[in-house]
Formats: sequence, C-alpha cells, structure tokens
Amino acid sequence: MSQAFDVGIVGAGIVGLAHAYLAARAGRSVVVFDRDHQANGASVRNFGFVTVTGQSAGDTWRRALYSREIWAEVAEAAGIEICHRGLLMLAHSDPAAEVLAQFATHEMGQGCTLLDRQALQHRYAYAHDPNLVAGLASPHELRMDSRTAIPRFAAFLAERYGVVFQRPVAVTGIGRSRVQYAGGETAARHIIICPGHDYASLYPEVFARHPVRQCKLQMLRLSAPAWRLHSAVMSDLGLVRYAGYGAAASLDAVTALLQATEADALARGIHLIVVQNADGSLVVGDSHDYAPTIDDFADEATDDAILNLARRTLDLDGCRVLERWVGVYGKADRDALIERVDERVAVVAVTSGTGASTAFGLAADCFKALKIEV
Ligand SMILES: Cc1cc2nc3c(=O)[nH]c(=O)nc-3n(C[C@H](O)[C@H](O)[C@H](O)COP(=O)(O)OP(=O)(O)OC[C@H]3O[C@@H](n4cnc5c(N)ncnc54)[C@H](O)[C@@H]3O)c2cc1C
Repeated sequence: MSQAFDVGIVGAGIVGLAHAYLAARAGRSVVVFDRDHQANGASVRNFGFVTVTGQSAGDTWRRALYSREIWAEVAEAAGIEICHRGLLMLAHSDPAAEVLAQFATHEMGQGCTLLDRQALQHRYAYAHDPNLVAGLASPHELRMDSRTAIPRFAAFLAERYGVVFQRPVAVTGIGRSRVQYAGGETAARHIIICPGHDYASLYPEVFARHPVRQCKLQMLRLSAPAWRLHSAVMSDLGLVRYAGYGAAASLDAVTALLQATEADALARGIHLIVVQNADGSLVVGDSHDYAPTIDDFADEATDDAILNLARRTLDLDGCRVLERWVGVYGKADRDALIERVDERVAVVAVTSGTGASTAFGLAADCFKALKIEV
C-alpha cells in the first residue's frame, strides 16, 4: 500500500482490535494485518466473558476494570449485544464458602453479594446441585458472544473510523517503519505486534526471554435449556485457577478438599464456566492442557468430565451437545507481555486466559509505553 499510516497492527484478534480502537478513536489512521480471512484464533474460541472478579490483583485487575468500561462503550456503539452481566461463583463446601466470604471483604470484592444456600435456591433455581452451600454474585462482568462480536467489532472499526484491514496477509517482518509481507510493504509510524500464541514468526527473541508454553482448552456448546442465565456461572474449581482469590486464608483447605473429591477434574485442568448466547444455547468449558506445542486432538474423556460437572451443577435436562472445539492460548510467568522493541515498535501478547477481559487495558498501557496519546 502506498498510504502511510500512524499505527500498523499485526493481528486482528481482540488484542489487535483493542489497539486499533483506542488509536482510531484518538484520530489516528490505522491499518490492521491478519493472515486469516476471518477471525479464527482464541478471540472467537473463548467464552466472550469479560471477567473482573477473581483476576490477579494489580495490573490484570486494573486492566480488566478499564476494559469492561471500554467493552460497554464499544458494544453500544457497534451494536454488539451484551448477552448477560455479572458472575455467580458457586461454593460446594464450607471452605469454599469461606474463601468467597473473605474475598467479599477485600477491595476486589466490592459490590459483590454473598448468597447463602436459601438465597441461591430462591434466585438461581437452575443451580440444582444439592451440595451447594453458598455463592458470590458479582455485578462487574460482561458477556458477549465472541464469534459474532469480534467480526462485528472489526466491521465497526472499518465503518466508523476508516480502519483499513489487510487480510489474508501474513506479516513476515518489520522494517524501519515498514510492515513487510509477501509481495509488498506498508509504511506505519508505529507498529504493534499482537500475534496471539504465534511466538515464532515475529520477534521470537522477545518470547524466548519469557518461557512461554501453550495451553489447549476444550469447549462445548449445548442446546438451550428452559431457563435463562442471570449471569455467567463458575464453580469453585475456579477458585484455585483464578489468582485473585489466592489471598484468602482458606484456599489451601479448598485445594485439599478438591484434590480429594475432584481429582480427575483437577488433573484435566477443568474448571466450570457456563455462559449463554442470545439464542439460549450455552457455552460450557473448559479444560487446560499445557505443552510446548499443542496438538488439535480433543480428548472425549475430558469433554465428558466437563459435561458431568456442568450437569451436576446446573439443570441441563434435555440439553444436547451442538458443537465442540479446541482453543489455544499462551502461558508464561505473567498474565501478559508488553515489550517495547524500540521507540516505535511493541509486541503485546496475553500469556494467560485473560485477553478478552484485559485487551483494552493492555492497549492503553502499550500506547503509554510508546508515548502515544490515545
Ligand atoms: C477456550 C478459551 C477460553 C477463553 N476464555 C476466556 C475468558 O473467559 N475470558 C478472557 O478474558 N479470556 C479468555 N480466553 C483468552 C482470550 O481468548 C485470549 O487471551 C485472547 O483472545 C487473545 O487475543 P489475541 O488477539 O492476542 O489472540 P488471537 O485471537 O489468537 O489473535 C491473534 C491474531 O494474530 C494473527 N497473526 C499472528 N501472527 C501473524 C502474522 N505474522 N501475520 C498476520 N497475522 C498474524 C492470527 O491470525 C490471529 O488472528 C480464552 C481463550 C480460550 C482459547
């Protein structure tokens, strides 16, 4: 392309789109490159769940709070439906209930409501597990159907702000203010690489500095039940996966109890998240399987274990599996990397399962690192 842009972005997942939005909203010209015809990475394979409650204290929680606000702004402007808001975290044991009670007293628990068994039964009758002892209702979350929301967001960026999308274009290198690909190059004053879990193609040395593994997750979509979710639902297996609950003194007791009662689920890295689409169908997951290189083979026993847990927890009578898929994200010693390669180029990668929740916060921090006002 002969046009020179203010900002060039590699990767049209949520992280790339979040950078495109903040830059374009601030009046900058933006070009986005993606090697795929359409969004196909983690950003459309996830729950579409913007999670605040339970995120690690510090940067991740702060970025999630900011991202939640910007997601709400984008959803309204772009006509993206928010399927439901908030989170119901369920406790199956007294130690888990105690973790929720302790969490509710912290800064990150502000606005959350503790529910006893009776309150749970009254308001959330579909949470039919007789072993439930308590719950925590958080108002902070948003849930979009990412498979429709991400393409809609990209179309909105093009329509409203004139963001130029170049697809399918695999970027092969970054030169001085140049994005390079087979058959050409495009000039951009600042360049931001948002490659998802592709750590090999561009700036592999950045990822070599942070030991990054990959994580395979199994997901299912179920046909609509007779009820509608008030909010996303998580089970207490999530307490040991989400670092934000880690400060609670009773977490060790929860871990020990889960090791005794849910050993298979723990071994498969399963924690239950259930969200609902506009058509009533449920997205249910997930498992976590770590390796240096991920294969695409989904283990039926893992799907069964996720389904069993979901059926034990919620009234899924008559719901059948409509779709199954595998997703991948990267995992490092921190939730995300923002690496300024030089004064004009940065690499931004989420190395945890938090990109849908934090992308706008990451983008704001990246622009700050590059000294670009947005
Ligand atoms: C199953 C699953 C469930 C999840 N659940 C949640 C959740 O509940 N909440 C949450 O916050 N997060 C969740 N996540 C994590 C979240 O989805 C990711 O952190 C986020 O989508 C990462 O976005 P991304 O833009 O970095 O990556 P991607 O969506 O993978 O996008 C990267 C893009 O870059 C393109 N690309 C890469 N290299 C090049 C190149 N050289 N040239 C051109 N294009 C290139 C790829 O084609 C791709 O489109 C989940 C992830 C999975 C897999």
